[in-house]
Amino acid sequence: MSDAETPRFSTLAQLLAPELLANLESLGYYTMTPIQAAGLPPILQGRDAIAQAKTGSGKTATFGLGLLSRLDVANYRVQSLVLCPTRELADQVAEEIRRLARALPNVKVLTLCGGAPFGPQLNSLDHGAHIIVGTPGRIEEHLRKGSLQLDEVNTLVLDEADRMLDMGFQAALETIVDYTPSTRQTLLFSATYNDAVRPIAQAMLRDPVTVEVESTH
Ligand code: ADP
Ligand code: MG
Repeated sequence: MSDAETPRFSTLAQLLAPELLANLESLGYYTMTPIQAAGLPPILQGRDAIAQAKTGSGKTATFGLGLLSRLDVANYRVQSLVLCPTRELADQVAEEIRRLARALPNVKVLTLCGGAPFGPQLNSLDHGAHIIVGTPGRIEEHLRKGSLQLDEVNTLVLDEADRMLDMGFQAALETIVDYTPSTRQTLLFSATYNDAVRPIAQAMLRDPVTVEVESTH
């Protein structure tokens, strides 16, 4: 692939905080993957986005850098919510966001997934978190119990939206979205953009840009 097709992260200097840029270099991320090159400019400008790319194409950093760019670390209230189909994926996403956030002071990323005991999650929520990564069922449960507030969420991410819908999470997603401010930025990531995903995207996103890439890095 030529350099023109794999631009460096440094070309985003106008849109990305210098500490986030410097940290990418320390992670060994120099050139953007195609989904990052196409998705980051509109996402960092605040656009809603539908992004479609294969597994392993660097989708996590695409939305991770977006949500970190809007984060106020001085505010210990939930500002980003990432919904994932499974606990394993949520753990991977949380780990990658923590890596991307290393340059910012004390960013707290909390995972809330089913299959894990409730008590410790309540405890962690009491201590405050900036970013929540979780599965729809457990997030919905916390909302119904009043243990999670989403009224300061500025970025909502639906990761692997097609799989979440395959798993029957549509109603949970609709409930959760209603707890977030309508002014939020919404980012929908999916391996496929099919008839199941389309109506959800139309209901939840506002004037989205569509980013689709064929190849992986
Ligand atoms: P996806 O969600 O599209 O399946 P991930 O976000 O999990 O992909 O990324 C796959 C792997 O690629 C991860 O190990 C991640 O750390 C790495 N990665 C992502 N972006 C870059 C990049 N620009 N340069 C180098 N490695 C990257
Ligand atoms: Mg992924």
